Amino acid sequence: MLNIKKIIIYDEPTVPEIKINEVKEFISKTFHVNVEIRPNFFENTNGEIFQKIATTRIFELKKPFEKHNPTVQEIQMEESNTDNSQNEERVLYDGFEFQKIIEKFISPNESNQEILHIIFTNKLTCTFDKSDYRYHARALIGSNPTIISTTGIIEAPAKPKQYYLDLMTNLKKENEIKEKYKGEFLEYNDSRISEVVKGYLLQTIMYYETGEVFCDDKKCRLYNAHWQKDLIYSQLKNRKLCNKHQQKLQNIVNH
Ligand SMILES: [Zn+2]
Repeated sequence: MLNIKKIIIYDEPTVPEIKINEVKEFISKTFHVNVEIRPNFFENTNGEIFQKIATTRIFELKKPFEKHNPTVQEIQMEESNTDNSQNEERVLYDGFEFQKIIEKFISPNESNQEILHIIFTNKLTCTFDKSDYRYHARALIGSNPTIISTTGIIEAPAKPKQYYLDLMTNLKKENEIKEKYKGEFLEYNDSRISEVVKGYLLQTIMYYETGEVFCDDKKCRLYNAHWQKDLIYSQLKNRKLCNKHQQKLQNIVNH
């Protein structure tokens, strides 16, 4: 039996590609667990959260996190939940700091190990990596609450190297280049995001249940893809767990 008794998923209305009811169905069938869908996390919290979230913005990719002192305008931007994901001046957030704030705003009677909270957001979450001393975009910030960044799904796994080279050498033909690579990576408003999201949910739930992170096998939905090509393969083409993890899932669900 699962340690989790209930999963609450908070929707992100600016990303309608996610077929939230289908995702719910998939998770409750896979894990035999009660799944509840709620509106966007920020909708039912008090306004204080927007100021707090604005403090997690990062401005320097090569420096560890320093709490930001937000302007009134930045706080207002959080309140209006403007989808700035496709904007040139994308706002970046420290994923772990973001997660800590969300955690504080979960109501105490729902804050326990038996309820897993999963928050979808269009904000681009990043984590600071001490090995190369810089921030990297992340699609998934695991644990409880889990943060799944829809912008991170598009931006974190890299596109083919040749795509960037083509862009650099043919700046004017951006549309042509995008057409050439169409389908090879996820784009904004891409309907495939809904299926990919299921893979990230599998990853966070399995991690929460077993304490083990990711799988090395590309033929497994628990594979931590660093390239869009691998993400598309494991989550859309292959769309299965490896034998080992399929077995593990069976054990969790049936015992
Ligand atoms: Zn596996």
